[in-house]
Amino acid sequence: MDGNGQCFPTQQRIAEMMGISRTTANKYIQQLEKIEIDGEKIIKRVKKRNMITAAWDHTVYTINANATGVSIFDLAARQKSQKLLDLKNMPYAEYLKTAHWKKLRGTVLKRFEYRCAICNSNESIEVHHRTYERRGEERLTDLTALCDKCHELYHQNQR
Ligand SMILES: [Zn+2]
Ligand SMILES: [Zn+2]
Repeated sequence: MDGNGQCFPTQQRIAEMMGISRTTANKYIQQLEKIEIDGEKIIKRVKKRNMITAAWDHTVYTINANATGVSIFDLAARQKSQKLLDLKNMPYAEYLKTAHWKKLRGTVLKRFEYRCAICNSNESIEVHHRTYERRGEERLTDLTALCDKCHELYHQNQR
């Protein structure tokens, strides 16, 4: 891509580089074309005419990120922080259904070898948040494994 945000590879070339079909490459580009930041599309499709024959020549895609003062890397960072905000703010019941939580829960269970940290039982082990402070980006020490009985007792005593 040059300084004006013009992208040279043709769809055919992009498809070859990514090892995908041209149809798939075209689909990806169409998805990119739908993304808007602050009401401005991040890529624009411009059809170029051949200067001599005036026939439609090829399509040039222009990355519009500079125009909005947002780079494509900022976009990735924004999507990441939005995802984190969602994890922090969604209802807890919904949070428990997220891929993030399922993965983390598995890691904690393994770490505690599927045993309760209080009574060492290996029945009905649940993962308990020692703190919700970092929900969505928990440290492993924020979580512990407890059997359902110890877990219930813990929450009763907290009240
Ligand atoms: Zn708990
Ligand atoms: Zn227990």
